[in-house]
Amino acid sequence: MPTRLGYPAVVGCSGATAAATPGQTVIVDGDRGLILFNPDAGEIKKYEGYIEQQRTYRLSLSEVAGLPSITRDEVPITLLGNVEFPEECDTILAQGGEGVGLYRSEFLYLSQDTVPTEEDHYNAYAECVRRLGGLPLTVRTVDLGSDKYARNDRRARERNPALGLRSIRYSLADKPKFRKQLRAVLRASALGPVKIMFPMVTTVGELRHAKMVLRDVMEDLDEEGIDFDRGIRVGVMIEVPSAALIARSLAAEVDFFSIGTNDLVQYTLAVDRTNEQVAGLYQPVHAGVIQLIHGVVRAAAKEGKLEVSCCGEAAGEIEYALLLMGLGLRRLSVPGGAIPHLKRLVRSVTIQQCERIARKVRTFDSEIQAATYLRDRTRKLVPEAYDGRAAELRD
Ligand code: PEP
Ligand code: MG
Repeated sequence: MPTRLGYPAVVGCSGATAAATPGQTVIVDGDRGLILFNPDAGEIKKYEGYIEQQRTYRLSLSEVAGLPSITRDEVPITLLGNVEFPEECDTILAQGGEGVGLYRSEFLYLSQDTVPTEEDHYNAYAECVRRLGGLPLTVRTVDLGSDKYARNDRRARERNPALGLRSIRYSLADKPKFRKQLRAVLRASALGPVKIMFPMVTTVGELRHAKMVLRDVMEDLDEEGIDFDRGIRVGVMIEVPSAALIARSLAAEVDFFSIGTNDLVQYTLAVDRTNEQVAGLYQPVHAGVIQLIHGVVRAAAKEGKLEVSCCGEAAGEIEYALLLMGLGLRRLSVPGGAIPHLKRLVRSVTIQQCERIARKVRTFDSEIQAATYLRDRTRKLVPEAYDGRAAELRD
């Protein structure tokens, strides 16, 4: 997998580092999730050829960097970035992103030993707004708990944290902290286009509760004469099956949806996204997941053409992005490095092609069949993205 630092990485290989010896030649193939110890001359030559073809492909991506993200039949697809730190906004812009679709604000808690103050929050959001120079910033309120704990968190560990006090539940259980964050987001909204998004909502009541706290904080700021965007757009993440299934009701309450496939896959398939022992069962192309996404897009369209984006990692894979476009998504928020690849894809296809492919994928009940079909179709449409892997490196 490509990493934020640009190094190839393969995870979940227990014992791999112990097996390596100093000075040994090792090939780390992040694309295929392989590590080759002591490759022979033939393997090295194949990989050198592959690296060269990938380099040419990457160079060709810079040709589309300044061009609009628009399909061959002229449908705009908005490409946004996911960030964890304000500095990353620069990378998103450099890669041709049109703003930040997901700012994981909990990283403020994960990167310092003290509980962030309102000023810490505000400074981080204000810096993002400044770096984005007029492009939108979507701040997700803290998604703590489950796999992300604040450094100073003294709470007893829960027995089942993924189903416990996490995300919006955590915020609603600690109003002073939640209010502090909301004040900071609202204050930053006076500086540029800022949206606010609540994570892991499972019921309409929970969303209304969060919105009530937001309104309350707005009143306080008004009374204090502090400026903020009174029309700030409020969205909700669709990360659990219950939210997807009641999308119509949620849509009536918000300005936008962002589908978080990382968690949606985990909760739909009952597969811990951090457990390598069940990694093979973690399938974003599972028919159940696709059906939920399809339902969310339809619910949003029925409810006054509500804006829907997808901000899960899978959206950064060209095959999955193709599927999402075919399912009706027009906004994708992905790690910065994926943006040029997606733009290349977007400019190579028509929406009709994507829709035809998505219709076909929806007829499959096997994830292997769906993944194979998507890869084959994508390879036909953007062959250069696969060059070098095609013949010799496969299998
Ligand atoms: C998601 O669940 O898809 C998501 C984007 O949120 P995170 O990965 O931060 O849980
Ligand atoms: Mg999530």
